[in-house]
Amino acid sequence: MKDKYTPGQDCCCHAYSESECGCDADWTPSEVYELREKLAAERALADRLHGALDALDYNLAFAGNTLIGGLRERVTAMRAIALPAIEAWKEARSEV
Ligand SMILES: [Zn+2]
Repeated sequence: MKDKYTPGQDCCCHAYSESECGCDADWTPSEVYELREKLAAERALADRLHGALDALDYNLAFAGNTLIGGLRERVTAMRAIALPAIEAWKEARSEV
């Protein structure tokens, strides 16, 4: 397990804060590093979801062309649920 980060831990000029520090140590608040890690994990999860939605979209489109009757209706209903999610994902992704 890695050591817990503390702002200013590498300061070698005995400063109590970034404003006093003259050795250019890292005073970034630990929350920033924690939130960056969390964001990376959320993005990885969202990427997996995107892949799943793409696969679903592909399979539903394929099934929609080959199925008949009631099954086609069910596929159409599933596409109606999946497609807005895919579009919302693409829109959210472009804002990052
Ligand atoms: Zn320092």
